Amino acid sequence: MRSAFLLLALLLGVHTFHIKEKPNSKNHQDITKTAILRATAKVCESLDGFKKPEPLNTKTLAKSCKKDAFASNFETGIKMITYYNVQTDTDHPFSEKYHFDSESFLDGKALIIKGLEDITAYMKKKNFEDARKRLGQILHTLQDFYSHSNWIELGNKEPCTALINLEESIPNPADEKTETCDNDTPNTNTGAKIKDTILKDKILTSGYFGKSKKKGKCSHGGTLDLSTGIGRSWDGINKDAGDSSHGLLHLKAAEMAIAASMQLLEKIQTSNDDFFRLIGLYKDKPKGEWKTHFSLFSSKSRVSDASESSNEVIDV
Ligand SMILES: [Zn+2]
Repeated sequence: MRSAFLLLALLLGVHTFHIKEKPNSKNHQDITKTAILRATAKVCESLDGFKKPEPLNTKTLAKSCKKDAFASNFETGIKMITYYNVQTDTDHPFSEKYHFDSESFLDGKALIIKGLEDITAYMKKKNFEDARKRLGQILHTLQDFYSHSNWIELGNKEPCTALINLEESIPNPADEKTETCDNDTPNTNTGAKIKDTILKDKILTSGYFGKSKKKGKCSHGGTLDLSTGIGRSWDGINKDAGDSSHGLLHLKAAEMAIAASMQLLEKIQTSNDDFFRLIGLYKDKPKGEWKTHFSLFSSKSRVSDASESSNEVIDV
């Protein structure tokens, strides 16, 4: 109870002190919804006479997929999955691996792989309720990789498929001793400077958050992040929103997170029918425990990172 209160206070504090939101930012809900819509359109392409609708939304897509009657269930299914996604920030705000902070690449990947195994097992048992929950949770971690690591800064044009494939190794993660950021450069208001050698050698790193960090490592950046020291909270590399430390790359990171989420959604598809049931494009209303997010999450904060920063609040 006490810690919940403290967390709330922290969130409120962040809300108050945060730089005003810029338009043109995508949160976890936007990313998840877009990925599900695009992945569903791909599945429906195998149906006779399918034409991808413009604009692409739950209503137009349900119609094009010849499932008009299920449009509202589809909307609920997506909201449920995004709810579980956002919950990852409230359930595990300071656990590095859930957000790929502090170079926790192997632990973060392990969470995703375990989630994929669970989803497959649940789907086999037609337990779509728990599958949906796990899907939301691991999509969060997967999406955070693109705003918290330097994958985008390294110039990658495709998602890191190693995060969803057990047998594939994560390319070139920095070891503990490798310095990844020039923390002595003067504050330029454009976030931390990743070392040239890191960019040249394509070494993967991610920002440290909150507490202290090892010498020469990058910070996440943002109001709650003191890892570069007092008064230097902006010297980080996160791309959570347009006004984040490396916010100039935010939209690129968001697009990459959408593409990665689509790959994950494709990976869990066994049959079209099971996929439709999972996402709610089905005759029965999707079941699951979930709530409307409080409006607090419409504000921008690190704790609700890549994420709950835009105006879109989930409502029932
Ligand atoms: Zn996160």
